[in-house]
Amino acid sequence: RFITLEGGEGVGKSTNLSFVVNYLTQHGIEVVQTREPGGTPRAEAIREQLLAHDSEPLDDDAELLLVFAARAQHLARKIRPALARGAWVVCDRFTDATFAYQGGGRGIDKERIASLEHLVQRGLTPDLTLLLDMPLEAAEARLASRLESQGGSKDRFEQERRDFFERVRTSYLSRATAEPERIVVVDAQGDLASVQSRISEILKQRIEQ
Ligand code: C5P
Repeated sequence: RFITLEGGEGVGKSTNLSFVVNYLTQHGIEVVQTREPGGTPRAEAIREQLLAHDSEPLDDDAELLLVFAARAQHLARKIRPALARGAWVVCDRFTDATFAYQGGGRGIDKERIASLEHLVQRGLTPDLTLLLDMPLEAAEARLASRLESQGGSKDRFEQERRDFFERVRTSYLSRATAEPERIVVVDAQGDLASVQSRISEILKQRIEQ
C-alpha cells in the first residue's frame, strides 16, 4: 500500500508522519518512510534546486518539471521497488502537493500537471492520502511559536504571502472533495491526542481491508 501525508505549512505533518510510521510498524507492517520532493540522493539534489533562493528566479514550468523529475527518480528507485516487495510506503507529500502548490499556489494549469502525472506515474497513485487541514490563522500561530522557540523569524507567513497559502489550502480541499475515498481530511486543529486517535481509526480500517 501507498500512503501519503499532505497539508500546508504548520499543520503538524512531521509529527503525524512519525505517528503513522510507528502505528503501522507496531502492527507488524514493513514500512518505508520517505518524502517528496526527494527520497533518493538524486531526487534530494533536485529538491535543493527547487528550494534554493537564487537570484535567478525559477520558471514555473521549470519548477513543475523538476518536481516530476524528482518524482520519476523516486518512483523508480524507491517507491515502486518497495511496493513490489510488499512493503507499505509512507510518503511526506506527493502529487497532491504539486496540484496544491504548483497548481493552486503558482497558478499552473491543472491539465499540464495532470499530463505529467500520467507520463511519470503511469497509473500509480496513493491508496490513501491523509490531508491534515486547519485554517491558515491556526497554522500560522503554530508555526510562529515554533519558529520563535527555535529563534527564527516569526514572519515567515508574511514573507511567503498569505494568499498563496490560502490557494494551496483551497486546492487541497477541493481535491479531497473530488476523491473522498482516497483523500481523508483530518482536522488538525485539535490537540495532538485527538488528531492521532482519528488517524489511528483511519489506519485501522485500512489495515483490516
Ligand atoms: O513538506 P515540506 O514542508 O518539507 O516541504 C518543503 C517546502 O517545499 C514547503 O514549504 C513547500 O512550500 C515546498 N513545496 C513546493 N511544491 C511541492 C512540494 C513542496 O513548493 N510540490
